Amino acid sequence: MEVILKNMMEQMVLLKLDETIDKLGCCQCDKCRMDIASYALNRLPAKYVATYEGEVYSKLETLSLQYETDLLNALYQAAQVVTQNPRHKAV
Ligand SMILES: [Zn+2]
Repeated sequence: MEVILKNMMEQMVLLKLDETIDKLGCCQCDKCRMDIASYALNRLPAKYVATYEGEVYSKLETLSLQYETDLLNALYQAAQVVTQNPRHKAV
């Protein structure tokens, strides 16, 4: 099995984004969701772990508690920016 580097923050941001997107009041298309995720990720510290490919990571829970506030703040900020500057035509 191949050992890979994985940014745990990425998984957590995507998870939180799915949980909170209804409250963010932004466009929910894939493009905007990924724009919001990348904006938030660029502002959060990377959290790399060495893991086997496909391995489910059990520390996700602990980590998400620790970073939850920062993460939510980054997501709200990201949603605002993307809503004000959508990268596609208004639907
Ligand atoms: Zn959109």
